[in-house]
Amino acid sequence: MEQLKNTGEGIVVSKLVNGIVIDHIKQGQGYKIFKQLGLDTLEDVVVLMRNVPSRKMGKKDLIKIETDMEVNLDVLGLIDPNATVTYVKDGKSVKKVRLTLPKRVDGILTCKNPRCITNQERIANVRFTLVDEESKEYACEYCEARTRL
Ligand SMILES: [Zn+2]
Repeated sequence: MEQLKNTGEGIVVSKLVNGIVIDHIKQGQGYKIFKQLGLDTLEDVVVLMRNVPSRKMGKKDLIKIETDMEVNLDVLGLIDPNATVTYVKDGKSVKKVRLTLPKRVDGILTCKNPRCITNQERIANVRFTLVDEESKEYACEYCEARTRL
């Protein structure tokens, strides 16, 4: 007798009609993306699936949002540039977006330097510029200290 494989299909919720699918998220990063995108405060239907079996990745995370809002692609690119974003309209995939590590991010990172003015004076929306693509390091616009997410 063939053994049933756990493919995760059993808990796949109904198909999106209009919204966004963020797929191929590195296992464990889904919750971080969920929080950083502010999906926990969204009124729309949001599904975060973790540890979904994937042929390519072993296991992955997946987020489905039934919404017409835009997601912040910089946040996604910063957390997981290999994730895929698909926009769904009337049940069909209408647009796929390729993510990249953003060259510049505003208001997502905070400076790790405790003496930086942004920490002393609680300055918001600090701009960080990518300085090292390999290590994903960004430089603070005020003190140039390097920071990672
Ligand atoms: Zn700084």
